[in-house]
Parts: sequence; structure tokens; C-alpha cells
Amino acid sequence: MTIQEKYKARVKELLSTGAVKMVIGYKPGSTAERRRPLFMRSPEEADQLVLDTACIANLAGYLVAEGLLSDDKRVGIFLKPDGIRSINILAAEAQLNIDQIVVLGFDIDGQEVNALEGESAGDFSALIESIKDHAPEAPRNPLIEQIEQMNPIQRFDFWQTEFSRCIKCYACRQACPMCYCRRCIVDSNQPQWINTSSHTLGNLEWNIIRAFHLSGRCVGCGNCDRACPVNIPLRLINARMGQEVLGAFDHFAGMSETQEPVLASFKKDDSETFIL
Ligand code: SF4
Ligand code: SF4
Repeated sequence: MTIQEKYKARVKELLSTGAVKMVIGYKPGSTAERRRPLFMRSPEEADQLVLDTACIANLAGYLVAEGLLSDDKRVGIFLKPDGIRSINILAAEAQLNIDQIVVLGFDIDGQEVNALEGESAGDFSALIESIKDHAPEAPRNPLIEQIEQMNPIQRFDFWQTEFSRCIKCYACRQACPMCYCRRCIVDSNQPQWINTSSHTLGNLEWNIIRAFHLSGRCVGCGNCDRACPVNIPLRLINARMGQEVLGAFDHFAGMSETQEPVLASFKKDDSETFIL
């Protein structure tokens, strides 16, 4: 039995027994390489499920859609390790109750799709164990190494050039599971913190602010990169911020549902005077 057949049977079982009200997975997209989200509410809908190496999108952001979890019923979802880290962060930030989530875990290794051990609601210890490979020892992105070889002026020019192509469509924000604010700072106009038109300064402000908001929260899923219509390598800047946070605070995002958000927590005895 293939992993797709195995999980299809599991989804049907979960839906037919009423263990979950919905399962979020993947179905064929507009081309052979693309997949779309699939929201299964009946066992019959599970026949559309696809699980293969093209299922790369992190689906965790759909869990915080307004009202989805407000009735306390459970929802199943297909997640790779980056998605599992995402729901840990969402739980730590009080955006969802982890007991309501049934994870159907999988990982992609080259041309293979493997099931992750430990499907669960509430107890993620087995799943967390199975994503340890994604912990801090994960190799650095070679493109980051290249950018770090640049001097500060070259590096600033590199990002200025990249951000100058931004058209302020906010697709990166909409696709990111960690960008769940109902009203984003960029949409505020009284006062207006960030210029909404697409020009050099406003683009830099927008992308830098977003990188700060994702410090210690980005799971490196790449939803933002893939959504960006002008192909700005957004994941790089967030990955670099992740390295800073790891070095400064020994914090690797999403390894536990009780991990405090690194930029939203403080200690009263912090030696820095800005705390009190
Ligand atoms: S910033 Fe990009 S890579 Fe990081 S969690 Fe959001 S979508 Fe994923
Ligand atoms: S998706 Fe790309 S073009 Fe759109 S706002 Fe984000 S960085 Fe700019």
C-alpha cells in the first residue's frame, strides 16, 4: 500500500467516525508540478487526495482561518516538519488549541514521501522527535553564505535591488502561516507606519518590518518565496534572522507548543535597562 493509499484510508476513517470535522490536504493543481489545498468534509472527498513530492506547501495557515476552530471540534491536517513547527508556534502564541489538531505527518526525501510517526491530537512528543533533523544543526543555506561574503555596502545594494522589485501585493504575507494578524501594521493608516505605494523606501520598510516580525518565528517553509510574483528570495532574510536568534537566544522556532515567542518575552532581571 502506498503512503497516499494509506493516508486516504485514514482520512476516510477519521471523517466517517466523526473524529474530525474536516481534513486539510492536497489535490492536483493546474500543472503536474502544482498542488492545491483540499478541504475534505466527507469520506467521499478523500478520493481526491494526493500525497506526493509536489505537496510542498505548508498548510498550517488554514487552521487560523476565522471561526474554523471556534466550535471546539477537531480538524485533521497534512503537515511536513515545517508545518508541525508552525502549529507549535501558533499554539504557543495562543492562536489555536493543539488538542483540536490531528496531524497527518509526512516528509519528503528526494523522490520519496515518508509518513512521520506519531499522528496525534494533543501529544506531539512523537512527532517532535521525528522532526529533530530540522533542529539547529540543519545546514545553512549556501546563498546566505554568499551574501555574507559581501561587504555591508554590497549587501545593502543586494537587498535594495531585490526589494525594489516588490509590488506590494502582500502575497508573501497572505501565504505565510505565521502572518495571522487580522489587521497588519502595513494596512494601518492612522497613523500610517509604512507607505503603501511601491517605491524604494516603502519597499525596504515593508520587507524589513516583516523580517523583524518573523524573527524567531519563521519555519523556513518557503510559502512566501513561492507566492512572490517577482521572485524575491524572502526566505533568505528570514533564515538569516533565525540564525541571529539562535545564536543570541538559543531559540529555534517551533520545537514545542510551550516555547515562548523570543521577541515577545522578557525577564525582569534582564541586564538591559530598556526592560523596566
Ligand atoms: S516567512 Fe516565509 S518561510 Fe518563513 S514561515 Fe513565513 S512563509 Fe514560511
Ligand atoms: S509577495 Fe513579493 S512583491 Fe508581493 S509584497 Fe511580498 S515581497 Fe512584495
